[in-house]
Amino acid sequence: MADGSGRVFVITGPSGVGKGTLIGKLLKRVPELELSTSATTRSPREGERDGRDYHFLGTAEFERRVEAGDFLEHAIYAGNRYGTLREEVERRLRAGRSLVLEIEVQGGRQVRSAMPEAVLIFIAPPEPAALRARLEGRATDSEAEIAKRLRTAELELEAQPEFSHVVVNDDVQKAAAELERLVREQLSLQ
Ligand code: ADP
Ligand code: 5GP
Repeated sequence: MADGSGRVFVITGPSGVGKGTLIGKLLKRVPELELSTSATTRSPREGERDGRDYHFLGTAEFERRVEAGDFLEHAIYAGNRYGTLREEVERRLRAGRSLVLEIEVQGGRQVRSAMPEAVLIFIAPPEPAALRARLEGRATDSEAEIAKRLRTAELELEAQPEFSHVVVNDDVQKAAAELERLVREQLSLQ
């Protein structure tokens, strides 16, 4: 909150719960928000573009930037590294802009420690079995990758009580409306 007006929203929750879907709707409905582009060592999926979907970094470059203190938070997820570059956050806050970080749970905890004023929102599935169905339906990951993500999801679901705001993504329109209401309230927007 460099000049006191920009806010940081962390949106977390297990893979396949619908974070990306809900954030896409949120960004259209609340133009005051910008999405931080994370760095990762994962390979790009079909259609993903460097600098837009992620900053795709090699492992050595990612590690160099960890050593340089360039990350606000970083974590290992399903065998790959992910992190939020400080510059992504700081340049927006300096300009008085609010932003969304779409990150997993370990990163969410680190942001909570580093920026206690950040708003942390956990997106939960209506029931755990929905995650497999949604990841299979999305069809972007191999069966082995889905299995890894579902194992991680069990731990992530246990972390839900650590987050002060929880939005259950059952009906996507209802969840999007609830997320929008929550964000507008925090930004003191109508
Ligand atoms: P995440 O970003 O959390 O990994 P995605 O937004 O990619 O999840 O959603 C995973 C899949 O589930 C996508 O195919 C998406 O269209 C679908 N999906 C999202 N929300 C719902 C919902 N409420 N009900 C059913 N399917 C959903
Ligand atoms: P995916 O490979 O599906 O794009 O992302 C896998 C997981 O990494 C998701 O839970 C996503 O939210 C998380 N993730 C994406 N970017 C970051 C980041 O910068 N930091 C952390 N900690 N997690 C991230």
